[in-house]
Amino acid sequence: MKRKANALLLESHLKTLRLPTMLAEYAAVVRQCADSDATYEAFLERLAELEVNARSAKATERRLKQAHFPVAKELSEFDFSAAPKLNKSKILELSRGEFIGQRANLVFLGAPGTGKTHLAIGLGRQACRLGYRVRFFTAAGLANLYREAWEGRQMLRFEASLRRLDAIVVDELGYVPMDKEAAEHLFGFFSQCYEQTSLVVTTNLPFAEWPTTFAGDERLTGALLDRLTHRVYIVDIEGDSYRLKSSMKAKQGNQSTTRRTTKKPD
Ligand code: ADP
Ligand code: MG
Repeated sequence: MKRKANALLLESHLKTLRLPTMLAEYAAVVRQCADSDATYEAFLERLAELEVNARSAKATERRLKQAHFPVAKELSEFDFSAAPKLNKSKILELSRGEFIGQRANLVFLGAPGTGKTHLAIGLGRQACRLGYRVRFFTAAGLANLYREAWEGRQMLRFEASLRRLDAIVVDELGYVPMDKEAAEHLFGFFSQCYEQTSLVVTTNLPFAEWPTTFAGDERLTGALLDRLTHRVYIVDIEGDSYRLKSSMKAKQGNQSTTRRTTKKPD
């Protein structure tokens, strides 16, 4: 009878303290600890650990959701043998997130289909797991959000929301040339992030061609590049298009389904 009253009181306390995992798990942990003659400290530690782990998993889920990645690409799914010029150990080093702590930037350069977005998302998801707040935008989407914020007089609020982030992915910079207004907004963005927020940029354009993207404005582009490349790791993927390769492989596979080729993809 007393035990039951104790349990009811304990459950009420755990609810008041908002410890849902301890509440859900304590009975099982009581049994395990009783069976293994664990100390009171070991019991409490095990229970607290479950709560801490559940909270941290939930926070990671929340960060992954708030990052708005368009697809859930992981570094573990990236086939490094298909990108032989890519420095795998550098990518793995970057996945430990130190560049974010240093507020350094990262630029993936390469032709369409070479895996730039995949790598940017994979690194971004890894950063979320490390506890960083990340947000994914396409360059065009970001320019649009700036325009909307400007028109709706929400600029301060929008920029404050960006300031809360540790890393921002700007995908597909240079795919679509921008008008003057969008270029100026993006210039404001790069200035704001300078030494405050890490940027992970993907682009198919060598830096020399960036002025064409930014409304033909060489001065603005120069200033923007100065900020972006002040502390930067540039990853030039330079390989062939993976999309093209896998569709070629599929075609070869259709022609000969039994023979497995050991030839390196070219
Ligand atoms: P990019 O952004 O450079 O245009 P993506 O990252 O969008 O290219 O890659 C195109 C598609 O090919 C995606 O589905 C991506 O997951 C896949 N892909 C590209 N490179 C690789 C790779 N080395 N290993 C596995 N998948 C890859
Ligand atoms: Mg891409």
